[in-house]
Amino acid sequence: MSAPTVESADLVWMEGDQPFSSRFDDVYFSRDSGLEETRHVFLTHNRLAERWRAMAAGEHFCIAETGFGTGLNFLAAWQLWQASAPDDTYLHFVSTEKYPLTRTDLQRALAIWSELADLSAELLGQYQDLTPGWQHFSFAGGRVTLTLLIGDLFDTLPELDAAVDAWFLDGFAPARNPDMWQPALYQRMAELSRPGATVATFTSVGDVRRGLIAAGFEMRKVKGFGRKREMLCGQLQQPPAQPWRAPWYARPERSDKRSAIIIGAGLAGCSTAHALARRGWQVQVIERLPDVAGAASGNPQGILYCKLSPHHPPLSRFIQSAYQYSLRLLQRELKQGEGRWHACGVLQLGTDDKEQRRQQGLASQGYPASFLQAVDARQASALAGVEISSPGLFFPAGGWVSPPTLCRQLLEHPNIEVRTTTAVADLRYDGSQWQLLNEQGDCLAASGTVIICGAHETARFSQTRHLSLKPIRGQITHLPADAHSSRLKTVLCADGYVSPARQGEHHLGASFRFDRLDLTPSKEENRHNLQLLQSLSPELHRHFSATAPQGARVGLRCTAPDYLPLLGPVLDPDAFLDQYAVLGKDASQQPTAPAPWQPGLYVNTAHGSRGLISAPLSGELLAAWLGDEPLPLPRDLSQAVHPSRFLLCQLVRGNASSSQRSKQ
Ligand code: SAM
Repeated sequence: MSAPTVESADLVWMEGDQPFSSRFDDVYFSRDSGLEETRHVFLTHNRLAERWRAMAAGEHFCIAETGFGTGLNFLAAWQLWQASAPDDTYLHFVSTEKYPLTRTDLQRALAIWSELADLSAELLGQYQDLTPGWQHFSFAGGRVTLTLLIGDLFDTLPELDAAVDAWFLDGFAPARNPDMWQPALYQRMAELSRPGATVATFTSVGDVRRGLIAAGFEMRKVKGFGRKREMLCGQLQQPPAQPWRAPWYARPERSDKRSAIIIGAGLAGCSTAHALARRGWQVQVIERLPDVAGAASGNPQGILYCKLSPHHPPLSRFIQSAYQYSLRLLQRELKQGEGRWHACGVLQLGTDDKEQRRQQGLASQGYPASFLQAVDARQASALAGVEISSPGLFFPAGGWVSPPTLCRQLLEHPNIEVRTTTAVADLRYDGSQWQLLNEQGDCLAASGTVIICGAHETARFSQTRHLSLKPIRGQITHLPADAHSSRLKTVLCADGYVSPARQGEHHLGASFRFDRLDLTPSKEENRHNLQLLQSLSPELHRHFSATAPQGARVGLRCTAPDYLPLLGPVLDPDAFLDQYAVLGKDASQQPTAPAPWQPGLYVNTAHGSRGLISAPLSGELLAAWLGDEPLPLPRDLSQAVHPSRFLLCQLVRGNASSSQRSKQ
């Protein structure tokens, strides 16, 4: 599936500050009473305050909305949530939007609501001009998440994996937006609803009422807001038959205990711990090295290199959403400044024809300038502060961060306990929980939920040996910064990368070696890295040509054969192959038997060299799997990164039993 370009909302401002859509010829809200109308229609008629007051600790509630618009409904719901929901409960707000507001317009539209000012500021603190795809946000210390499905809801809602408790059926008036108010929407709403889910909408149009009734909702006409005579509200009475879903991508049974052990304290492990801790889970992080981020996540400077394809294959769409989530997390968790998040921009240089074609393909797709801009060599030189001889793409919001600093910050949470210098050699399931054993067979810790975030070592356990993971050695070179080289203001990337100075050093990378897996730096790879500098900036290359590196560091990236990460629950491979053997003969079969999960066992790994981009959203995805929350990715992407994909592929190709079992 391709990611279409997105058009922004085309607002005109009536009476100075009231947003009006010229595309739909309708208002977003009434300036005088918009907030009160939201409360009347959507909050009161979904009975939110009373339902929220009754929630038990650890529970979550999911609202889904058609048409995010200015976010007024979201902010009003969040405000009510703060006032009525118990502390240890969680709100997930999922909203669709075909024409997102620019950040400037959103700021202007929300400025009217002074009583929502604190919440608007938190939203605006993370909201940038949006690109197509799904955009995930986490607010209020993790108690409120927002997932915006950017695109037409007839494309996005079929990809949503969620169980909705309440619907805000918004959107411009049916007469102004007839394409949206269709039976297919009501049907999909019913499919996505939990039993007893409620719905409210400002309209009382007969077609809408009949459509919702036909989809299984019992609907009532009630008094509308202000001068509007009537509106509709209702509840799902008749859950529809669900379409067949592949059991190997279904959700495993959820554990009642909200505690987990994470193996590995790199970016994947720390991001997962952070996401779970923000949801009230108790997390123990176990790391074999003496410090967190001591392996592949230990480079002094990590860059946010958002490499996209103009054809939008799954990897590119995943990266696009994950990159923007990482930016939000970095802005939220780290302050600007030395050792912190440096949003200095990233220049991707088009140093050959193929790369220039890729970049032109992306530049012609109407991305917001705050996301990416095409620049010529002169503009690139001005941005970089050093001479650049190629055109490129500039990502103004990107930059670099120290991954170990980020990892430590992510673990700074009272719900997280970290145990370093603790190597897990084996896993044993005792019928109710996983025991983590050391080399001697002693139990180090036990939990019903274990998430292995151990890069390629994730596959060292008998339960995960079937996962296809490969280590690739990479070396970075440390170069001494001086007055001349310190003019470099942005990160430069092509086949390699170089970063602006940090604590008197530039970091230049990186080699890719498949032939050796030791961690000793080599002179040869330093030379290779210096060679890469030639295509990044001939000026810097000349400058450093006679300079001896003042250090180097080697790490092992972990990749899967399709370069996508592995995120989610883990199957028992033998039971899977036996149970669904029929697929080996006929891949079109739709078996319904539940998949044989290894109870409570999950992985988050194979981030390659882009862990800074992919790990934070992966942490949110893991937390969503574990908590039965709406997934922050479209279904096709959550399946593209699912650990079950390789076993399925082997089975369907018919070589499962031999190749799979020989690996055990
Ligand atoms: N809930 C909004 C708020 O709190 O500000 C107001 C919603 S506004 C009246 C309607 C929104 O629905 C617009 O932002 C519009 O772009 C969006 N919309 C209309 N048709 C859509 C569709 N087919 N898919 C997704 N969004 C759509």
